Amino acid sequence: MANDLDPRMQAGEDVLPGTVRVLLPLPLADAYDYSVPEGMEAEPGRFVVVPLGKRLVLGVVWGPGTGEVAVERLRDIAEVLECLPMAETTRKFIDWVAGYTLSPAGAVLRMAMSVPSALEPPRTETVYFAPESGRDPLIKLTPARKRVLDQLEGGPALPMAELCRLVGVGSSVVKAMVQAGLLETAERVPRRAFAQPDGGRPGPLLSDGQAAAAQGLVERVRAKTYSATLLDGVPGAGKTEVYFEAVAAALAEGRQVLVLLPEIALTAQWLKRFEDRFGAPPSPWHSGLTSLERRETWRAIAAGRIGVVVGARSALFLPFADLGLIVVDEEHDGSFKQDDGVLYNARDMAVVRARLASAPIVLASATPSLETVTNASGGRYASLHLPARHGAHGLAGIEAIDLRRQPPPRGQWLSPPVVEAMRNTLAQGEQVLLFLNRRGYAPLTLCRACGQGLECPQCSAWLVEHRFRRTLTCHHCGYAEPPAKVCRHCGAEDQFVACGPGVERLAEEALSLFPEARLEMFTSDTLISRDQASAAVERMTKGEIDILIGTQMAAKGHHFPNLTLVAVVDADLGLNGGDLRAAERTFQLLYQVAGRAGRQDRPGTALVQTYIPEHPVMQAVVSGDRDRFVAAELADRAAAGMPPYGRLAALIISGADPGQLDAFCVALSRRTPQVSGVSILGPATAPLALLRGRHRRRFLLKAPRDTPLQPILHDWLSGVRLAGSLRLQIDIDPYSFL
Ligand SMILES: [Zn+2]
Ligand SMILES: [Zn+2]
Repeated sequence: MANDLDPRMQAGEDVLPGTVRVLLPLPLADAYDYSVPEGMEAEPGRFVVVPLGKRLVLGVVWGPGTGEVAVERLRDIAEVLECLPMAETTRKFIDWVAGYTLSPAGAVLRMAMSVPSALEPPRTETVYFAPESGRDPLIKLTPARKRVLDQLEGGPALPMAELCRLVGVGSSVVKAMVQAGLLETAERVPRRAFAQPDGGRPGPLLSDGQAAAAQGLVERVRAKTYSATLLDGVPGAGKTEVYFEAVAAALAEGRQVLVLLPEIALTAQWLKRFEDRFGAPPSPWHSGLTSLERRETWRAIAAGRIGVVVGARSALFLPFADLGLIVVDEEHDGSFKQDDGVLYNARDMAVVRARLASAPIVLASATPSLETVTNASGGRYASLHLPARHGAHGLAGIEAIDLRRQPPPRGQWLSPPVVEAMRNTLAQGEQVLLFLNRRGYAPLTLCRACGQGLECPQCSAWLVEHRFRRTLTCHHCGYAEPPAKVCRHCGAEDQFVACGPGVERLAEEALSLFPEARLEMFTSDTLISRDQASAAVERMTKGEIDILIGTQMAAKGHHFPNLTLVAVVDADLGLNGGDLRAAERTFQLLYQVAGRAGRQDRPGTALVQTYIPEHPVMQAVVSGDRDRFVAAELADRAAAGMPPYGRLAALIISGADPGQLDAFCVALSRRTPQVSGVSILGPATAPLALLRGRHRRRFLLKAPRDTPLQPILHDWLSGVRLAGSLRLQIDIDPYSFL
């Protein structure tokens, strides 16, 4: 009850307990108001513990209270954590991402609080040291005690385990010395020392073109203001060396650097190049870290004790204390788009993060995305182009093999010219990469008796045979079953036939052709861990592998000096998807794969097997003329009003009950917004009509580039209620159209 002692009843703003908005890292939540008990300081950014229902949850003070709930009904903040507050730029970034992706801010905050244990007070440890006053000369020391004092006098305080190990005594000796007053103790927070990359080390000798580009980037770092720069050049032109100069400049200024790489491209080779340049490794941030490593890295980034972080898209949400540069390498890569939870493109959000932090960002690629190319040509981004290194082989000689004229023998996948080229290459002691972007043995298993394929019971997708693991697997939901004997459709026995090739089947064929060759597969199924992948790269680099068979995992980030033949087994594969970026993605992938051959002093050859050599993508790949491809593809997109000239957003509605789902879609289509220039397609059954047992429908919104889609979507969806089991996903700038 309010009485005279209740501070809320007293006059004067300064004694009123404040109310604040606290954002909780929950997918449903916007910020809620809480009251701040007297004597508690809860500035924006502070991590706090607040009651929610019957639980206590962690949150972040987001700003002053909204006043939407009467003060007397508010609950108190339970605790303000001692840890460093969340920086203002990080909070602004979270709000921005939430607004752009139309996600609850709490869902975005959750990504920025991925290591809640890092917020707990760090555990202290007891350390032992010799008193400053020195030892009493009258006390006789045993040899063990003398060794302990010799170690600690003039040296740093040490925890028990380390002291005992260094001196070779048991803990009882140390404890007795404390009792005797020979040693003192203190409590301290253990800190892992992170190796510090040194920006002052001299870099490699750069060509004139590289040096000019590097100088341009260094100036942007020193300007300490936002800028976005596209850094492009063919594979081997030295993009990494050039952006390393910008990293060095940021380190020299004592600032932090974030390098975003697709997880697949964060290879041991990349890390080694970094370490060679800076004398110490960067701090990696990826799914392979232990929880202890995550916690220590998170804290050290927040405290500014880590200079360079390299990671996949989630690294964007780390609590940088003083971000001075962001680099997005392989910026065109589709894996920067997160397709689960908050649907965001880390490349695009990195640009926003750089702008909010007043830091420069560098987007590097040999095959920049059309979005980035357009931003550069439109003047929104600066552009630095690296010429091919003089005297070095850039791209391999690329040749299309027309499978209509030179088909492989029946039931096989390698055409005669490819087999011939493999034979010559192996005879010279050089290496071959067979590229097929399809995991497993066969993408489809058919019953000969009834003609039906084996489908995933939970998705509209074929089960893929993995002979290596002896399963039939769904690549969409992970469902797996043992290879069947009896057809579930017609009951016929032993009538199954594998259709089409996967890498495992290709390996079988290559081994039957070249039984002497040392062959390995480079796929996510055969190389499960990061270490296994590194070891395979090492074997390939050392020449212990003759034929490497790989999916796109093999296309990125590796340099194999003795690899002189690359054969793309099915270049048409990526074009069948029929989505907006199918041609672009196919071109990028083929261009990157072809760029693997002959990167050092040996000329390489890339052979591209296709049924459609006249297709513009194949023509562009064979000519190696990236600019021609980009110009043709951009013209197509412009004519269709598609990105980067228009904007897209997708709504994906899913549910277990198709009747309920369709009723909801009809209700939605009755209230589609009428905005000039904006068209809404759908509802349509999604190509992946069933996923994990849920039926799926799609709407697609298309708008001119200068029309923001968020307010339109917001208006459209604000009045509808999702029935029970239905789920609605909003995908701004979609990359997947399944
Ligand atoms: Zn059958
Ligand atoms: Zn499935």
